Formats: sequence, C-alpha cells, structure tokens
Amino acid sequence: MNIETNGYKKTQKRVLNKRAVLWLGQTCNLRCQFCYFLERIESASHKEHPFMTLEKAKAICSCLVDFYHNNAIDIQGGEPTLYREILELTQHCRNIGLLPTLITNAVLLCKRTRCSELKAAGVRDLLISVHGLGDNYDSLVGVKGASKKQMAALDNIIAEGIPFRFNCVLSKTTLRELMAISELAHNTGARVVNFITFNPFEDQHNSAKLSNENVANYTDVKTYLTPVMDYLEDVGIECNVRYLPICMAEERHRKNIYNFQQNPYDLHEWDYVSWSWTALKPQRMKDGEITKPIDRRTISLESMQFPVALKFATDAIQKLIRTYPHTRAPIEALYREISFVVNTVKQKIGRGSREEDFYRDNALVRTSQCDYCYSKECKKCSVQGICDGFHGDYASIFGTNEASAIELGTKIYDPTYYISRQEKVVEAEDYGWAL
Ligand code: SF4
Repeated sequence: MNIETNGYKKTQKRVLNKRAVLWLGQTCNLRCQFCYFLERIESASHKEHPFMTLEKAKAICSCLVDFYHNNAIDIQGGEPTLYREILELTQHCRNIGLLPTLITNAVLLCKRTRCSELKAAGVRDLLISVHGLGDNYDSLVGVKGASKKQMAALDNIIAEGIPFRFNCVLSKTTLRELMAISELAHNTGARVVNFITFNPFEDQHNSAKLSNENVANYTDVKTYLTPVMDYLEDVGIECNVRYLPICMAEERHRKNIYNFQQNPYDLHEWDYVSWSWTALKPQRMKDGEITKPIDRRTISLESMQFPVALKFATDAIQKLIRTYPHTRAPIEALYREISFVVNTVKQKIGRGSREEDFYRDNALVRTSQCDYCYSKECKKCSVQGICDGFHGDYASIFGTNEASAIELGTKIYDPTYYISRQEKVVEAEDYGWAL
C-alpha cells in the first residue's frame, strides 16, 4: 500500500524510467570547478556554447515524445533559466506531454517574479544544484554572492509551491557541509537529495586539473556520507548516491547507490536510449539540423557482450565518416545490418530480448567510455556483476585499493538487487505506470 504525502507516493517497485534530457547550450552564469562542460562554458566560440533556437529545442522535444515515448524531460543549459525562451519551452513541453524539470543553480530565481512565471508556465519541479553553502559554494562555483542568491531563490521557490530536489557534487571541501545541506533539504521540503561522487565526463575526463588536492577519496566520502544517509533515512527524504563503488557504502546504505546499471531504474534519471541521441553534437548545438533518431537496434550494437571492443569499432566507424563524409550513407547502412545480425544472434542465445537488457548493456558501454576498472578484490566480490568499480580517472589518482569484496555466497547479476529495497518518490502523474 503506497501512502500519498505532499502530492507523491513512495515505492520499492523498480521500473525503467521514461525521462529525457535536453542540453540547450553551454552558457552559464557560474563557473563550477567540476562542471562536465567547463571548457564549452568558458569558450564563447565553442559550437556547443550558444543556446539553440526555440524552434530547434521544440523539434528535439517532439522527437523525444513521438519516437522515444518519453514522458518527462530534464532541461539543462548550461543554465536553463538564462535561456530567453525558457517559459515558452517549458509551456511547450507541458503541452506535448513532456513533464518539464529544470536542472538549475537557481541563482536567477532570487527574483520572485521569475519563479511565479516558471510556475505559471507549468514547470513540474526543479533539480537545484546545492554543491556547498556560503563561501564554500561561492568558491566552488567561482561567483561571489551566489550562495546568498541561491538561498533567496529557495525561499521564492517554496513560496510559489514549486516542488524541488537537491543535487550535490561531493567535492573535497563540501564533505564537511553534507549534514548541513541535508538539514537544509529537510527544513525546506526537498523531496530527494542526490550526492554525486567523482565522475569526470566530457571536458573533465582525463583533466590535469583534477588531483588529490581537490578530489575526495571514497574512504573520506564514506566517513561523511554514512551519518548523512542515516539522517536522510530518519527524516524520510529519498537519498541517492551516484557512481560510488558499492562496497564503499555500509550494507544498510547500498540500496541508495546508483551506478550506471542502476540509473535506468531511477525515475529521475535519464532514458539511456533517448539520451544516446540527445547527447550527439547536432542535438547540443545551435547550428545545424537535428539528426535522425537512433534506432534502438543501433544502440544495442554498442551494447553487445564486448562493450570495450565495440567502443573501438564504433569510434573507428565514426572517424571514417568524419574523414570521408561522402561514405556516410553506405557505412551507416552497413552498421545497421551488422546490428541486425548481432541482435538476432543475441536473441537466439536468450540475451538482449528483454527491455532491461538494452539498458544494462548500454550501461556497460558507458562505463567503458570512462575507463572504469576493477581491483583484485573485485574478482572475488559477489556483486561485481552489478557494480561499475572505479572510474578510470579516480583510479589514476588514488588507485583501487579501497575496494573490499562483498561476499554473499552467491553471485548477483540483478542490478536491482540492492535498490529494490529503497523507498523512492513517485509523482502523481506517474502513479499509473510506476506503482
Ligand atoms: S566489484 Fe569491486 S568496487 Fe564493486 S563492490 Fe565489489 S569490491 Fe567493491
């Protein structure tokens, strides 16, 4: 029996999410040290820097509904509240059946009218990036006074009755503020708090700027997070920790750990299939047309049993197309044919026929792209099959010696093994399919 409180219910049922993501352009009013897109944000001449037109954003949204059957969307910028047509886009998403969330630093929402306009436009909720408090936040995001504005914005958001959740990147200097951030979440009525461990993607992957000076090791993360997760559990706030090796959490908290294999079961995370399409450059740039949606079969080509080998193959094909653009059509046709054969074989051997398998295998591709690796301990660990192990960049700084095998007496292959014990928020609009 799921009991409704504050307009949502909680459940331990795990289903695949249907949420899309859209990057409007890498233009932002902050300069977060750990931003995945920092180079694109700082370079006005980068092709992904300027915001796209409203027309293009709407075309992407239509494809997300019509082709991918998504029913919710995370709108990001850079910073989406800077986008001149954000109200019109929000309203449009609501109208076509994509419930709109803004992933935002909320600084501009310190003006009450901006909040009320967003509410009127139909924003579903906000995912607010609370990466620290006070001076620490200002220092992390590179703008003095930003925290003060964010706190004023929070007052406005509450006054307008817009639901919200928190995102918090686990920077080294933020660890000691995690309890205060969690108390803020409780006192202000946040529905969910997400903690994001070291996962440098995009511009940050292999960055020389990241070192043990500014990156927290998992042992310290565990020390600070353990009482915080107990607190959030006690006050009834859903807490998720992204990209942490499962053994780096106490047994009672492993239900809160979401690595790539678990993310598709979080309703507030992104559908890997449509994400694979919106992440392509044409869908993230102001200029040019959007590309054809990616057939699920093509996605699954990348998600064979040998993700790393296929990553090389995929890169080689893309490089070939870039080098000889006139060969694009025949190469893509060949790619689709290979995909078809591969999937037929996979289905014959009982692999890849289930919806979940597409997502699980795609998760493995994503880990291979970030050079995730395992330690010697992992080989004897019962949950290696559902754990990403260590991000390659993390391992290059700290090694993998923190790993400690979990021994359950049997090997676990179900990615929902732990997370199916977690009570997660389901908003009213999703009761019909998610409960
Ligand atoms: S697979 Fe490795 S990193 Fe993951 S929980 Fe097991 S020992 Fe830890």
